Amino acid sequence: MRIVLVGPPGAGKGTQAHVLAKTLSIPHISTGDLFRANISQSTPLGLEAKGYMDKGQLVPDEVTIGMAKDRLLQPDTAQGFLLDGFPRNLAQAKALDEHLAAEGITLDGVLDLEVPEDEVVKRIAGRRLCRNNGAHVYHVDYNPPAVAGVCDECGGELYQRSDDTEDAVRTRLEVYHTETEPIIEYYAQQNLVTTISALGKVDEVTQRAVDALQARAAG
Ligand SMILES: [Zn+2]
Repeated sequence: MRIVLVGPPGAGKGTQAHVLAKTLSIPHISTGDLFRANISQSTPLGLEAKGYMDKGQLVPDEVTIGMAKDRLLQPDTAQGFLLDGFPRNLAQAKALDEHLAAEGITLDGVLDLEVPEDEVVKRIAGRRLCRNNGAHVYHVDYNPPAVAGVCDECGGELYQRSDDTEDAVRTRLEVYHTETEPIIEYYAQQNLVTTISALGKVDEVTQRAVDALQARAAG
């Protein structure tokens, strides 16, 4: 199965991508992993990307597209793949289509994780991390520590990441609306989009996703 996963920040996309790929026995290809792998192996694309990132500039689409194409030519994608974070705009979606067409294959579906905007803000803006250990994660409403501002596990100070503030979340959502949402419309015209609710427990959302993809595969 060849799938693209889309959804706003705070929808739990990374978690779902990981679990879904495992469930469907296909590789999970995330933009973050692509960048990390290319940069750590100092590939020409990785070096190019690093040059932009070091200067605090956005990495151009051609570089990201190049990394994705290289990855999609690896033999483990023969049975399919799940893309997470790519394509993130219309130019990348069109480049992906061209690449797949050249390989004589097509996408099977685009899974759109939907979560109400206020819920996104609540989820992200309520997140608190422990200064001692990044794995000690809390939420002021959903998973509060016994003592406000103090880690239950180690007594460390809890803090809010600067890009988790409400203003920062609203900005990230704005970017998602203007840059990424147009690809949902683009794929909808190809009749590829299935939208599911991303509300609920992780395994509930996974089950919903699997059911939706199977229904799509069954036609
Ligand atoms: Zn802690």
